[in-house]
Amino acid sequence: MKQVIFALMLLAAFGAFTVTLVRYARYAALGTSDPRPRIDQIGLRLWNVRVYFIGQKKGAERQIGQSASSYHHLFIFWGFLIIQIGALELFINGLWPAFNLGMVLGDAIYGVVRWVIDFSNLIVLVMIGYGFFRRIVLKPRLIPINLDASIVLGAIATLMVTHFGHWAFDALASSETVVPHQPVSSVVAGLFSSMSPTTAAMLHDVCWWAHAVTIFCFLNYLPFSKHIHLLGALPNIATMNLSDRKMDLPKVDLEDEKQWGVGSFEQFSWKSLIDTYACTECARCSNYCPANLTDKPLSPMDLIHDIRYEMLDKGPLLAKIRELESTPDYDWRNQELAALKKQLEEMPAMVGGRIKEETLWACTTCGACQEACPVFIEHPLKIIQMRQNLVLAQEKTPPDLARAFRNIERNSNPWGIGADQRMDWAEGLEVPTIEDKPNPEYILWVGCAGAFDQRIRKQTQAMVKILNAAQVDYAVLGHNESCTGDPARRGGNEMLFQMQAEQNITTLNEAKAKKVITSCPHCLHTLKNDYPQFGGNYEVIHHTQLITHLLESGKLKTQTNGAAKLNVTYHDSCYLGRWNGEYEAPRKALKMLPVVGQMTEPERNKSKGFCCGAGGGRMFMEEHGKRVNVNRTGELVATGATTIAVACPFCNVMMTDGVKSMDKDESIQVLDIAEIVATALGGQSRTATPPVDVAGDTHAEVAPESAS
Ligand code: SF4
Ligand code: SF4
Repeated sequence: MKQVIFALMLLAAFGAFTVTLVRYARYAALGTSDPRPRIDQIGLRLWNVRVYFIGQKKGAERQIGQSASSYHHLFIFWGFLIIQIGALELFINGLWPAFNLGMVLGDAIYGVVRWVIDFSNLIVLVMIGYGFFRRIVLKPRLIPINLDASIVLGAIATLMVTHFGHWAFDALASSETVVPHQPVSSVVAGLFSSMSPTTAAMLHDVCWWAHAVTIFCFLNYLPFSKHIHLLGALPNIATMNLSDRKMDLPKVDLEDEKQWGVGSFEQFSWKSLIDTYACTECARCSNYCPANLTDKPLSPMDLIHDIRYEMLDKGPLLAKIRELESTPDYDWRNQELAALKKQLEEMPAMVGGRIKEETLWACTTCGACQEACPVFIEHPLKIIQMRQNLVLAQEKTPPDLARAFRNIERNSNPWGIGADQRMDWAEGLEVPTIEDKPNPEYILWVGCAGAFDQRIRKQTQAMVKILNAAQVDYAVLGHNESCTGDPARRGGNEMLFQMQAEQNITTLNEAKAKKVITSCPHCLHTLKNDYPQFGGNYEVIHHTQLITHLLESGKLKTQTNGAAKLNVTYHDSCYLGRWNGEYEAPRKALKMLPVVGQMTEPERNKSKGFCCGAGGGRMFMEEHGKRVNVNRTGELVATGATTIAVACPFCNVMMTDGVKSMDKDESIQVLDIAEIVATALGGQSRTATPPVDVAGDTHAEVAPESAS
């Protein structure tokens, strides 16, 4: 009788679980095809599974603000995997009471397996205790103790307790106090050694059934809980983006108005939808998010959950609609189809509904969330795709960003300064244009900030001084250069971006450009990673990479010029570092300069660096409340350095503004690395940074359109 009941429960539990799994897979399959290869390079993908899924490399990493690595999840995960061997034995044993794994493995191996399982149960139980302690007492940011967490932690703890119980009471039922090869269960048996065999036999049955029922319930609760990541993490890691382009935005087909960005969940690719099943709710993304840390209405973790809830809410309806659409065209079908479509249409929209506009506009596209995520979820890609829907399909662009877009269209730069002033920065300097010098080795891409912003012009002039000193064969595109379209693409205006890309690619191709140098990581990212989608293929390097090469090869000679040595800290640009993997060139360049004395790293540096707040079009948008750049400047000032070195014009503007907001502009200067190098060549004095002329007091103020 016991076997029959158990068999029915087993069938029901696994049957229901399979139905849920198929349903979830079906919802993800409602997404669009993914433009990237996802099942190539099998060896590398298996390696990633070993390192990041089994080895939990990113999950165990020490986080900012933590004193040690986070191993507790690793222990729970491994322990949980190991005890599945015990669960398998229990399932077979429930159907065939005489069975034990020793019959398959042999007594010696079985003894070791039992010992390992028993010990793993103890480790998991201790870690679950720590899990409760952490949530209730330590209260980590954004990881509360809630009903779901309590159910999950409680269920796992029940499995551990009933494991020890059923083995210990089994021994006691036979008047034994030692469970062979199970030291922890033996200790438990010892605690109850005075118990009568009859009571022990009864308690053994209770524990055995409680263990089985908990497994069956947990299995079916799992897809509806945070533990859904147990199902989603493995496929997500296995199909991660392996290309060097970490922000690989798909090209929007502007002819297809139905798919202008992502407005509803099924417009995401299937891979983006699988992402949402993989979230472990560790909150790392939100804890590294500059928008979230400055109280903006954006939590990348909640955003991923919202997409999942959207899929689970609307997926059943849409799946049914797709199913009916593939059946023959009968009246009953058309009626049902119309009713279902109406029902779906009446549900609130995802973008602008469940996911608020202000959430999407708060993002600086800094990539800190994606970098921190242990299961490789790509948040910024989704945010930009939803912005595309807001801008192109819903025509909802924040006014200040819309103004920047119009300025790019009319004057080739987001500030709306007359395009005829693009070369004013070069007045009085020896700067060859492409007309003066056809076929140069390098095109110097000046960028809009480098050409129009009074502060950043000094950075461009410093770069020219360096190139001339090292006798680099280069030319600028002069008035033919136009905004790369970075703010447009990151801001969701794919139409404007594509226009800019096509125009600039024509200009670069006419100039027969092969190598491009730029001081702006946003230009670098766009030229290097976005333009190839439109046929623009160039070797694009950042000015710090060229400077490092020139210093290492001895083509640039530097000296102290008798000035006091600088006490420097370096602020990583997100678009140079996280998105393009360059952390070392700026540091190497600084360390090679005789004018640099001390170099101190801020706590958040390299891949864990903190955004300046200007990416993703935020440079041109008003910021309310706590400001990201002031927050970051505070971290840099806390290093004790008196020079903040930057490698990006946007970071330069934001840090300069931050230093001013802190009333530190008399004592702390913000300099681009090119400017520091140029002073070491002689002839340029190192003084406190002058105010920013174009952006005014705050980075968000945009020159009036009348300027155009
Ligand atoms: S890209 Fe940066 S600002 Fe945007 S959600 Fe991620 S961490 Fe936050
Ligand atoms: S998205 Fe990634 S980093 Fe954020 S909570 Fe989920 S698993 Fe953690």
